[in-house]
Amino acid sequence: MTSYSVARQGLSVPTSHAARNPAAHRLPPSGAERVRRLLSAKTGIRLLIQFIFFYLLAPAAFASSPTVNDIKYWSNPNYTRVVISLGKESAFTSKLLKKDPSINVGWRRLLIDIKGARTTPNLDRSIPINDGLLKTVRAGQFDADTVRVVLDIDSIEDYKVFPLSNPYRIVIDVTGDKPADQGKAAGEVREPAASQPLGRIAPGRIKKIVLDPGHGGHDPGAIGKGGLKEKDVTLKLGRLLREKLHAKLGSRIIMTRDTDVFIPLEERTAIANREDADLFVSIHINSSLRRAASGVETYMLNLSRDEESRRLAARENATSRKAVSDLDFILNDLIKTAKTNDSVRLASMVQDNLVRKLNERFGGVKGNGVKGAPFYVLVGTRMPSILVEVSFISNPMEEKRLQDDKYLHEVVEGIAAGLMSYIGGAGSI
Ligand SMILES: [Zn+2]
Repeated sequence: MTSYSVARQGLSVPTSHAARNPAAHRLPPSGAERVRRLLSAKTGIRLLIQFIFFYLLAPAAFASSPTVNDIKYWSNPNYTRVVISLGKESAFTSKLLKKDPSINVGWRRLLIDIKGARTTPNLDRSIPINDGLLKTVRAGQFDADTVRVVLDIDSIEDYKVFPLSNPYRIVIDVTGDKPADQGKAAGEVREPAASQPLGRIAPGRIKKIVLDPGHGGHDPGAIGKGGLKEKDVTLKLGRLLREKLHAKLGSRIIMTRDTDVFIPLEERTAIANREDADLFVSIHINSSLRRAASGVETYMLNLSRDEESRRLAARENATSRKAVSDLDFILNDLIKTAKTNDSVRLASMVQDNLVRKLNERFGGVKGNGVKGAPFYVLVGTRMPSILVEVSFISNPMEEKRLQDDKYLHEVVEGIAAGLMSYIGGAGSI
């Protein structure tokens, strides 16, 4: 009975009984001794299994776990975007905690718990932000199965947490309680909104426009049969448009990229928000499996049931159609805060003027209208925002035109005329 209980409890000391009773080695084993030896053998097997799991199999299992390998942020005193990059998809929860003086935490905290995830050793565990909204962002292995990211809060009005895929990342947008204008540089004089005609914005009020040439770097975008790459055309258009708008409006024109470099989509949005831009224009070239497809279309952020638009969004988002469907859940919420009406008006004016200008010098340019689709790059923008699909690179004639400087010149004239119409200086270009 004693042997039995030792064997049961002393899992790692199977020799202790024999040491205390050397005779046990010489005599035939009793029934109890046989049970003990059997259990000891089982114990050995169990230890072996544990060894195999923890030292051989577990690292492989962890290696395939989602790994938090980077945390980045972009901020101004009224907006901070934090992006947590993970190797693969992972479930997560978020929770806003109240101040807790009982544990010496006199500020609110936003927790993001990522299930089944691990951190990498080279991850910065604590990132100081101190922008008036957030103090720090911290990440750590909360337990064996959870990575916890903590945002220490100074002052926030609202926040949104949503995932984007391929690669999987969790985006946290935090906004402040000051009206957007107060976040602008001190000393800047703005005309009172009440003096503006209803639904129009005086040119002086458009201080900053962010232009976003699509794709870049290792992401060429769509490629025409003749070899023309979308990323090269969009950059060329962006540079020409910057020059044109700066000359006409005197506004600051900021490009999300000015070279052949890859910028993640959520970073482009973050740049526009961090800059507190008044307008955001993303420039793309369309592509379709139907080689006859042609023309101009202008998009704003919205849900879409139109298959062609969803296919386009999946391509522009560099993700799957399923991921586009997943986005519907978060878009329902995000669209409420988007400047939807202004974006529709901006999209209409750019679309109409672009089609008109192109048709003045080049015949047969189709206007495919203003549409809504779930583009990642428009998710979370805090200003009127559009995405222009200038022409189809997959259409042989339009690919040829996109290599013609005269055509690009007209594209720029058209987009600029649309922006001027929106701003209120119609016909001045
Ligand atoms: Zn594109």
